[in-house]
Amino acid sequence: MQHVDVHPISLDRLASLLAPVRALHLAMAAERARIDFSGRVMWHVNATAKGGGVAEMLTTLLAYGRGAGVDTRWLALDGTPEFFTITKRLHNNLHGYPGDGGPLGDAERSIFEEVSAANLAELRRLVGPEDIVLLHDPQPAGLLSGLQDAGAHVVWRCHIGCDTSNEMTQQAWLFLRPYLDVAEGFIFSRKSYCPDWVPMERMRVIPPSIDPFSTKNSDLAPHRVRAVLHRAGLVTADTSPPGDLSFIRRDGTVGLVREHPHLILNGNPPPPLEARLVVQVSRWDRLKDMVGVLRGFAEHLGEMPDDTHLMLVGPAGEGVTDDPEGAEVLSECEAEWWRLPEAARKRCHLVRLPMDDVDENAHLVNAIQRQARVVVQKSLAEGFGLTVTEAMWKARPVIASAVGGICDQITDGQDGLLLDDPQDVDAFAKHLADLLPDDRQCAAMGSAARAHVQDRFIGDLHLIQFGELLSAFSA
Ligand code: UDP
Repeated sequence: MQHVDVHPISLDRLASLLAPVRALHLAMAAERARIDFSGRVMWHVNATAKGGGVAEMLTTLLAYGRGAGVDTRWLALDGTPEFFTITKRLHNNLHGYPGDGGPLGDAERSIFEEVSAANLAELRRLVGPEDIVLLHDPQPAGLLSGLQDAGAHVVWRCHIGCDTSNEMTQQAWLFLRPYLDVAEGFIFSRKSYCPDWVPMERMRVIPPSIDPFSTKNSDLAPHRVRAVLHRAGLVTADTSPPGDLSFIRRDGTVGLVREHPHLILNGNPPPPLEARLVVQVSRWDRLKDMVGVLRGFAEHLGEMPDDTHLMLVGPAGEGVTDDPEGAEVLSECEAEWWRLPEAARKRCHLVRLPMDDVDENAHLVNAIQRQARVVVQKSLAEGFGLTVTEAMWKARPVIASAVGGICDQITDGQDGLLLDDPQDVDAFAKHLADLLPDDRQCAAMGSAARAHVQDRFIGDLHLIQFGELLSAFSA
């Protein structure tokens, strides 16, 4: 297993954004947690140290948890490609989709259990009795009962799901339930994701949140955004825009944005600095429907202002370790891109961001989201879209599918626009064509979006709810 090191951050940083009463609640929750968890460790186990929403959120929770004086640690499990193919199938099924359509039978169960047993053996050497372990998503589910047998308190947190169950979700629960039944607690991002066999008294709903001060979300002046994007080869300009290229790493040290000659695929020239940018940032996952975004945008290009460009942004290289479909989905996007007329290809950019330096990656995402005129998230399913909240925090108007957690994140027409049918590319393009030229509407939605995030999703409520749930185990 991989120990993921996270630098502690004082809660004062978060409290500086809060009204006094909210800051006081946070301080009291931290005090309570220090007492309740004294001498115990809170472990988080998930499938990957970088890439994707869970890794992003754990970085925040651990930093502030440690800053609050709670001994919080993070382990990413080891798995084989076969194991991650099965867990990706479970992931897709829990979202209500068949994914690769493969089975979840005895053979899959034996691969799943073999990998779980190997990870469990390692974890049991680390976890003490009375420690608390949070297992995130299906990948570490097979560790649950073994950890409880060792005396730990185990909670399963599920970040995915869909509002109405179907054959797919039932197949996934049939596979997972034997591992999960005995959990002391369950956390879901929405109530509707919780299957009916979970006892309500053991279940909590806790929506995810973002860290407004992280490298990905901290304020960045427009001249710095322009300089960063130019340096990384993501925009063109006659002269290089002046601006600070440094960023603060999560360990507190300073990094510098590198030159990246080939982030945009197929040698497509970057958009001009002044282009009106439409952006979707996602893993290369079919449920994010990058291909649908590309098609919808390109087919309706004539209805958009002439200076509009689309950027589809996802991880490069091996991408996200627990996501075996990434390379295939990127190829599908590339194939779709080649099918576009040449004029459309020049206005659509597939961007692969390097993952070797997660802090630089975060800084680039920050700059790209800030440069966007409109951010889109045309997902077919979404547990809770961190990318949506990240963009809203940056006061960007977001057009996103009315699926899953996104319905809690956006109030339609007020702080963003919801797309009732995520497959409807015409409606998607119409939203874009209406919003893009309307500067006043963009600004109004953007500022409402930032206020909504400030009110509900900047992390203090998340940390407090989390502390409350875990304190229940200290009685
Ligand atoms: N992300 C990133 N670089 C990329 C693609 C995505 O840092 O190239 C981040 C994105 O900013 C967000 C997370 O990965 O913080 C994705 O979380 P989300 O909840 O939107 O989707 P998930 O990947 O968990 O399905």
